[in-house]
Amino acid sequence: MNISSAIFECSAPDLDSCPDESLPEFAFIGRSNVGKSSLLNMLAGKEGLARVSPTPGFTKLINMFIVDKIWRLVDLPGYGFAQVAREHSARFNKSVSNYLRDRKNLTCVFTLIDSGLTPQKIDLEFVEWLARHSIPFVFVFTKIDKASPAEVQANIAAFTACIAPWFETLPPVFTCSSNTREGRTELLGIIGECLAAIKEKAAQEPPDETTAPEETAAGGPKTKAKEARPKRPNPARPW
Ligand code: GDP
Repeated sequence: MNISSAIFECSAPDLDSCPDESLPEFAFIGRSNVGKSSLLNMLAGKEGLARVSPTPGFTKLINMFIVDKIWRLVDLPGYGFAQVAREHSARFNKSVSNYLRDRKNLTCVFTLIDSGLTPQKIDLEFVEWLARHSIPFVFVFTKIDKASPAEVQANIAAFTACIAPWFETLPPVFTCSSNTREGRTELLGIIGECLAAIKEKAAQEPPDETTAPEETAAGGPKTKAKEARPKRPNPARPW
């Protein structure tokens, strides 16, 4: 899969301000400085993607981009800001926790972890929170070009050992480098698989005979696709 167009849609301060739920959403989150902006730009192949919003303080907002007119890339604020409220010990803001918990069209969260670091408390807290709320996600260990492969593997092993008690099946683990573009194909591959699964499921749905013709013309297929998606996919294999 590739990305042909990624267009900034909006910066939402909270869940209620997010656009309609007609498109599947793929959200990216991680501690500040984890390499999220670099990764988003690398995936989209468009320099400045993660920084195009003109809104001051946008790093605390939920930034949405429409990709290829069929899905949304959601750039979530980095966690770890001192000023954000603690919610059940997860140090990220309320609008993000509401978004992650209640956004029906959220298909998969890409949780970014710096592969050069030993397990960090803040990341572990966040992952525990995701597990507790059964939010579908995959791990993306970033900056793998920075440390040696042995160090990267050791850090990933240490991290997964810490979180193992919270999961029946560990979420999938991916690695990437925005410098070398490693991991790009795999990460876009997950998104492609999710989109294909959603499309297939929507195609299997029986036609809704109760839908009025006007409604169908005004966006029926989108609504149907949305309803066809489970509210929460399997966290171990979101697609
Ligand atoms: P963000 O705060 O999570 O959006 O992180 P940025 O994308 O702004 O990156 C933070 C720092 O890490 C910057 O100095 C980047 O140049 C660096 N960085 C990001 N990705 C990589 C990577 O894949 N490899 C290396 N070596 N450095 C990276």
